[in-house]
Amino acid sequence: VPELRKDPITSRWVIIAANRAARPNEFLAAPPRRVAKVCPFCRGQENQTPAAVATYPGIRSGRSAADWQVRVVPNLFPALTSDRRFVLEQNGLFETGPDVGIHEVIIESPHHLVSMCDQCDEEVALVLGVYRDRLIAASGRPNVVHAIVFKNVGVAAGASLEHTHSQLLALPVVPATVAEEECGAQQYYQQHDRCIYCDLIEQEQRAESRVVGRSAHFVALCPFASRFAMETWILPAEHSSHFEQTRDAQLVELAQMVRQCLLRLQVALAGVAYNFVIHSAPFDTAALGHYHWHIEILPRIANAAGFEWGTGFHINSIPPEQAARTLRTVDLSCFIPTGEDVSTRKTS
Ligand SMILES: [Zn+2]
Ligand SMILES: [Zn+2]
Ligand SMILES: [Zn+2]
Repeated sequence: VPELRKDPITSRWVIIAANRAARPNEFLAAPPRRVAKVCPFCRGQENQTPAAVATYPGIRSGRSAADWQVRVVPNLFPALTSDRRFVLEQNGLFETGPDVGIHEVIIESPHHLVSMCDQCDEEVALVLGVYRDRLIAASGRPNVVHAIVFKNVGVAAGASLEHTHSQLLALPVVPATVAEEECGAQQYYQQHDRCIYCDLIEQEQRAESRVVGRSAHFVALCPFASRFAMETWILPAEHSSHFEQTRDAQLVELAQMVRQCLLRLQVALAGVAYNFVIHSAPFDTAALGHYHWHIEILPRIANAAGFEWGTGFHINSIPPEQAARTLRTVDLSCFIPTGEDVSTRKTS
């Protein structure tokens, strides 16, 4: 029986309608691959991208710039670039502002890998450390107040290049999704003097049915009002409002959790496209008692259509309890990262 559910933080409604889908696999055709003739993100093609703003050597490799493991470059087609003052111009009802912001691409490997899962935990931890560094760098820039780190994986999720990479977009305004979460969390905080995310983690751990995984400092769960089938959130178990304050010692543990969640998703829904987003508190605030950073993994098995765009309601065909059970029971023991460069993979 379909059921309406309200997200306790944002008050966003979803319809959980298991009857609408026979099996999720039926959505999944072979994932279309977008293969560039020459991949601009591969080692040796550095001149195809704007000059790097930062490079990181490999964990095991030498220290020369050519030996990079992660490269950060300005986006070749930036959405926002200027560091002017964000002054709005008013014209009757309409407001316009300058293109204040930063748009960077984080190339996560010199090898042509298509998934974070193809890297080892230490390599993923390095990438997460780069997110932290770039967020700290962005927070020091004038006129930006927030930045989103995100990944589009697969054509259906909007990826234009398959080589594993992520993007950082710093903005002069707090984006609506984070503002909505913050607003709901603040209301709860005013009423209960507690962080709603901390309470949510506690309740979910007691119930267990939507928990995907747990480590010393992180929890992964399928949210009660999941908008997308197999939607997964990763949250620090201890309260923390800003991702960029994550300590080195926890990055490897977080990397393990991220890789595991992505692997579980990949095994459960082979070839699924997804978006990966870090939601963190705005830069210009001290540590917030009411906001709790988190990662959202948003699989795209069904396209948002008229109803979703017209109402803001999402219809999700896999109840999160079922999704969590499926993800939890994936056998990861047989899965070892190959680090295999798919561009050199022999096709027969
Ligand atoms: Zn490549
Ligand atoms: Zn919290
Ligand atoms: Zn969020």
